[in-house]
Amino acid sequence: MKELCVCGSNKLYKRCCGRFLDNGELAKTPEQLMRSRYSAYALGNHGDYLLRTWFPPTAGTLTAEALSERGQQWTRLEILARAQQGDKGWVEFNAWYRAANGSEQVLHEKSVFQRSAGRWLYVGGEVSATPG
Ligand SMILES: [Zn+2]
Repeated sequence: MKELCVCGSNKLYKRCCGRFLDNGELAKTPEQLMRSRYSAYALGNHGDYLLRTWFPPTAGTLTAEALSERGQQWTRLEILARAQQGDKGWVEFNAWYRAANGSEQVLHEKSVFQRSAGRWLYVGGEVSATPG
């Protein structure tokens, strides 16, 4: 795939999130994991990856099958801030999607990540949706 990554990094997909989604590499920072999870949602069919990178206690009863569905038509990602301290980190972002009526909407979230056994995992997020 010679396409630019959907996470908006301006890198080729295979050198960006494709390394994590398709080649099993481990994200080294919360931002890399955040971007790869956004790409997983945007591309669809990556529910197994989303589940694998989810902190098990907060993933609850989510299934890879349900996570593979493309719930929203994601159009772009904007990273606003990020921080990492030891095995904890967070990323604040806007994720844009096209609503059913064609208007562009934005999801604002501060996602929290934790590293466990060398793997960064998504713990949860504080979401606030802004009416478009
Ligand atoms: Zn990417």
